[in-house]
Amino acid sequence: MGTIETTCVQGGYVPGDGEPRQLPIVQSTTFKYDTSEHMGRLFDLEEDGYFYTRLQNPTNDAVAKKICQLEGGSAAMLTSSGQAATFFSLFNICECGDHVVASSAIYGGSYNLLAHTMRKMGVEATFVSPTCTREELDAAFRPNTKCVFGETIANPALAVLDIELFASAAHDHGVPLIVDNTFPTPVNCRPIEWGADIVTHSTTKYMDGHASCVGGAIVDSGNFDWMAHADKFPGLTQPDESYHGIVYAKRFGNAGAFITKATSQLMRDFGSIQSPQNAYLLNIGLESLHVRMPQHCRNGQAAAEFLSAHPKVASVRYPGLPGDRYHGLAQKYMPHGTCGVVSFDVAGGRAAAERFMRALRLCTIETHVADSRTCCLHPASSTHRQMTDEELVAAGISPSMVRLSCGLEGTQDILDDLAQALEQA
Ligand SMILES: *Cc1c(COP(=O)(O)O)cnc(C)c1O
Repeated sequence: MGTIETTCVQGGYVPGDGEPRQLPIVQSTTFKYDTSEHMGRLFDLEEDGYFYTRLQNPTNDAVAKKICQLEGGSAAMLTSSGQAATFFSLFNICECGDHVVASSAIYGGSYNLLAHTMRKMGVEATFVSPTCTREELDAAFRPNTKCVFGETIANPALAVLDIELFASAAHDHGVPLIVDNTFPTPVNCRPIEWGADIVTHSTTKYMDGHASCVGGAIVDSGNFDWMAHADKFPGLTQPDESYHGIVYAKRFGNAGAFITKATSQLMRDFGSIQSPQNAYLLNIGLESLHVRMPQHCRNGQAAAEFLSAHPKVASVRYPGLPGDRYHGLAQKYMPHGTCGVVSFDVAGGRAAAERFMRALRLCTIETHVADSRTCCLHPASSTHRQMTDEELVAAGISPSMVRLSCGLEGTQDILDDLAQALEQA
């Protein structure tokens, strides 16, 4: 498709002569056929086509194709949320009795999914520090390990994953690396180029970018050779009895097996489809992603630098800061910028952080990140308010920590608001 900029604007949907310039919303649950035989060929996956929107819809497919091109993948699908994308990407290759190696610095929802819900389904997880050595990583694998999971930039820890290290360990153990690339987006990092096999997204964040739709996406690189590790991945390499005995890896090859299976099995059975209306709005967000990300990053960088020089701020975490422990990895994997999210500790503890939050004017209080509007969260008094100060510290969140998601406003306006709120803290 050309550059990332052109793909953001024009990827996925290419209208024919006389067709709508803007991506049409195919607001239809079902599709009409002249003969049952024709529909039968679709059900047998012998021909491409649409029959029911839970499985596939032309609007969703066009947007998935754009995200696929942005990530440099071979196939992609949309899901109803980022959580659904994470779950499908894991459950597509893990079943009861299997095991996952995951970075401990991941989104809270992904942690709960792995540590609690998937455990109840018989899939166990071992969590490793994102800063672990190759030896520590190797030691986490078991004979039943089926994948490695991590986040390019972890929400909210802002730890940067050493993608090459995690990919090489995964591959030496014969399993794929799955990377959640929500925070940098493919504008700032393309994990497949560094060895990731499958990439997931919460499109709810920067991709949508306007806090309008919850959504997710899964992209397959097409690089993982399922048949070379056939015994580990029977779901892809053995006949699927629920689908006329199809063998996904043989019929669709490395390029198509993973997404075809996730669509024809998991989407069929779990039904976490994105509505075509939401996919349309997501596509409008994607059209400006390459223009918005640099401004989110400029504001994030400026806020991080301002905060780290401020006497009422105890500490700042932002991978774009030279002193940050993840700065080296950020420079390697995201030389043009990381994201707009900064976390910092207000000096003076929980009460000072609460006063700071009350004094904010431009920055609004939200349980969200990656919106066009700057938003702010004090986990200790909101998402994590049931925890004591001691429990918070154990979870890596201090009572005075604030998560700031820099939007697209003028940089000086954000800094002025932070300055006046810190004055009152
Ligand atoms: C928000 C988020 C998710 C979950 O996505 P939803 O769209 O809210 O379901 C997953 N991963 C990361 C990194 C996120 O920030």
